[in-house]
Amino acid sequence: MTRRKAKTPTVGFVSLGCPKAASDAEQILTRLRAEGYEISGSHDGADLVVVNTCGFIDAAVEESLDAIGEALAENGKVIVTGCLGAKKDAAGKDIVRAVHPKVLAVTGPHAMPEVMAAVHQHLPPLHDPFVDLVPPQGIRLTPDHYAYLKISEGCNHRCSFCIIPSLRGDLVSRPIGEVLREAEVLAESGVKELLVISQDTSAYGVDVKYRTGFWGGKPVKTRLFELCSELGKLGIWVRLHYVYPYPSVDDLIPLMAEGKILPYLDAPFQHASSRILKLMKRPASAEKVLDRIAAWRREVPDLAIRSTFITGFPGETEAEFNELLDFLDEAQLDRVGAFSYSPVAGAAANDLPGALPEEVREERKARLLRHQEDISTQRLERKIGRRIKVLVDDIDEEGAIARSEGDAPDVDGLVYITDGHDLEIGEFAEVNVIDCDVHDLYAQLSATVAVS
Ligand code: SF4
Repeated sequence: MTRRKAKTPTVGFVSLGCPKAASDAEQILTRLRAEGYEISGSHDGADLVVVNTCGFIDAAVEESLDAIGEALAENGKVIVTGCLGAKKDAAGKDIVRAVHPKVLAVTGPHAMPEVMAAVHQHLPPLHDPFVDLVPPQGIRLTPDHYAYLKISEGCNHRCSFCIIPSLRGDLVSRPIGEVLREAEVLAESGVKELLVISQDTSAYGVDVKYRTGFWGGKPVKTRLFELCSELGKLGIWVRLHYVYPYPSVDDLIPLMAEGKILPYLDAPFQHASSRILKLMKRPASAEKVLDRIAAWRREVPDLAIRSTFITGFPGETEAEFNELLDFLDEAQLDRVGAFSYSPVAGAAANDLPGALPEEVREERKARLLRHQEDISTQRLERKIGRRIKVLVDDIDEEGAIARSEGDAPDVDGLVYITDGHDLEIGEFAEVNVIDCDVHDLYAQLSATVAVS
C-alpha cells in the first residue's frame, strides 16, 4: 500500500517597513523554514499569510492596512505582526482589528514566538525530522553579500515626533555573544558587509549597564566600542546606522582610522536650531555636533556622514529653518535625507502650538534638498581621480553597479563601473573614479588616473 504524502504547510509572507522590520521578518522566516513550512510568494498558493506591518507614518499605516486587506481577499487566513499591530486608535482599540476584524491574530513588532504560536494554532507543522534544512545563517531578505545585524530593540528616548518607543518599548540590548555569533555565521556564509541597526545604536548596552558577556571564551562588555572592535576582526565591511552623536561615539573613530569598521556614520540630527531640538526632545545641540564632526574628520578625513532632517516642525520659523541651512553649509554632510513634518497619530509634537501648513513644510523640504545638492556634489567631486574600494551589487549591460565605503545600500549613492562587466556580484574591486553627479560616482577598472 502506498501512503499519500501530506502537503507541506505553506505560508505566504509580506514584509513592509524599515530595516528593523525586515530583521524581524528574517527571524520569523528562518523559524518557519526551520519547522518545515514552505514560503510562498503568492497569497493564493499559501495556506495562510503573515503580514509584517509598519505603523510609523500615516502613509505606512494605509499601505499596511491595504496589504492586510489584499491578503484577506486573496487568501482569507491572515496573521498580522509588526509596528501597526501594536497601535491603538483614539478609543484605545486595536487599529488592525477595527479595520480588518477577520484577521486570525495580531502581534506587535519583534514577536517571533507569538507569531509562531499563531501559525501553529491555525496551520500545524508537519512532523518530519528531515525537513530541518535551514542554512545556518537563516533566511534573509537581503542579497547574499550584505545583511542587517540588529543589536537591540526599542528606545529610551522620547522624541516628541516619534511613537516608536510606545510601539517597541524601552531599549533592550541583545547579548553581545549572541550578536557576535550571528555576525560570525553571516560572515562564514559569504556575507561581505554587515549593516548594524537598532533604534539607537550608540546606546547599545545602556539597559544592561554594559554587562560583561562572553565571546570566543573571553569576557567582553555589552558596549558599542567592544562590539565594533570584535566585528572589525571578521574581515568584512561593518557599517553603522542610527548612531546618535553621544561622546562615546568619539571612541569609534580610531576603529575607522585603523580600517576595522567603515568610515561611515548614519547619524539622524533632525534639526540644528537649539529651540526646535528642545521641542523635539532630542539629546544633542548643534554647536557640539559641529565641533564633533570637525574632530572626527580631523582623524578620518574620508568619513562619510549621512543624516536626516525634519522640515516644518510645529512652530519652526523661517529664521530657524535658515539656521538649519547654515548648519548644512558648516557640517558639509555627505548624504542628507529630509522629511516634511508629518503629524503621526499619538505623537506628543501634535499638541505643540504653531502647526505649519503642508505647503510650507513641503516647500522647506524641497529647499533643504536643493541646498544640500551642491554640498553632496562637492563631496563626491573630491573623489574624482582617486582609486577606491567598492563592493559590487549588480551587473547589467552597461557594466557593474557597486557601492563605495561611503554608500549604504538603498539610501545612498552608487558607483557605476563602465568596464565592470566581468566582475561578480558580491565581489570587492578597486576602481578609478572618473566622474560624478549629485548622488553617484562613475568609475573604471582600467582608467589611468592619478591615485591620491
Ligand atoms: S531616538 Fe527618538 S526618533 Fe529615534 S526611535 Fe527613539 S524616540 Fe524615536
